[in-house]
Amino acid sequence: MTERSKILLIYTGGTIGMVQDHISGKLYPFGFDTLLENIPELKRFEVDIDTTQLSRIIDSSDMEPALWTELLEVIRGVYEDYDGFVILHGTDTLAYTSAALSFMIQDLDKPIILTGSQLPIGTIRTDGKENLITAIEIASSKEGGKALVPEVAVYFEYTLLRGCRVTKYSAEHFDAFHSPNYPELAEAGIQITYNDPYIRKTGNEPVRFSEFMDSRIAILKLFPGITEEHVRYILASGVRGMIMETYGAGNGPSAEWFITALKEAIDRGMVIFNVSQCLAGSVQHGRYATSSRFEDIGVVSGRDICFEAAITKMMYALGQSPQREVVEAILSIPLAGEMMVDTDI
Ligand code: ASP
Repeated sequence: MTERSKILLIYTGGTIGMVQDHISGKLYPFGFDTLLENIPELKRFEVDIDTTQLSRIIDSSDMEPALWTELLEVIRGVYEDYDGFVILHGTDTLAYTSAALSFMIQDLDKPIILTGSQLPIGTIRTDGKENLITAIEIASSKEGGKALVPEVAVYFEYTLLRGCRVTKYSAEHFDAFHSPNYPELAEAGIQITYNDPYIRKTGNEPVRFSEFMDSRIAILKLFPGITEEHVRYILASGVRGMIMETYGAGNGPSAEWFITALKEAIDRGMVIFNVSQCLAGSVQHGRYATSSRFEDIGVVSGRDICFEAAITKMMYALGQSPQREVVEAILSIPLAGEMMVDTDI
């Protein structure tokens, strides 16, 4: 007889577990018990499911790095006891959490699947039931004793996506998340079809946990008409790292004041990560003259990384070292499949 899989279901909050206040009509997070009461199907699973929750149940707009550390600690503490983990999370910042965990927990050999819903679980048309039930099924799926998806991934609306490749795309549709630069890992129809060539395989490395995240970062989003005053204000804000959201394939103004301001900040020790404002495609330093200048002064190319992964990778990289060169080296290599490698270009 094959052993039943054991899954830990971790509740953080979000619409999936919210209830409506009868007087104000507003949605607010509620306890785990209410959620479980609404999914009796969980008891019929051929899987043992334990449950736990964060110390604070939140609307995910209140997510912060300290809660990512709490999630990491929960998983680290029982990693060997379970075959997989499912995290119930609000959709608003789910892509940030899935990216953060992809960097904080590397070389994992078990699935960590995040899911949530657009409608609360108690409502008739909820998408939460299917999302949760299939997420559990994926988290417990194995072949030859090995997990089918040893990755941090997001399951939503019949699709499984790599956790460090997703972005919240819709506040309206059930299909809330997209992965514009990486194919889906699985699709759930009558059966779950795994897109095997695109799923990371477990190596011989043991799982690594790192709770060190430094959130002293800033964002500089370029727009036509951006002023020197605005740019210098952000560069002088005392942060260690900055995500620069550029145009198209990583381009920005060629004005001398702009390049000089960036260079001065880098010389002072700041790390600048170039990420495109486009959802799909890649930063390519040197394709246009404007981005060659970025390369020359030491801006790091984010290639085809998505915004959420760029933010959390920067926090992770800064958390690993006080030295700019080390942080830049960490940013430049793919850690969890969040960006393409050199040979892919
Ligand atoms: N505001 C909610 C949250 O992110 C939205 C959702 O769950 O869909 O917690």
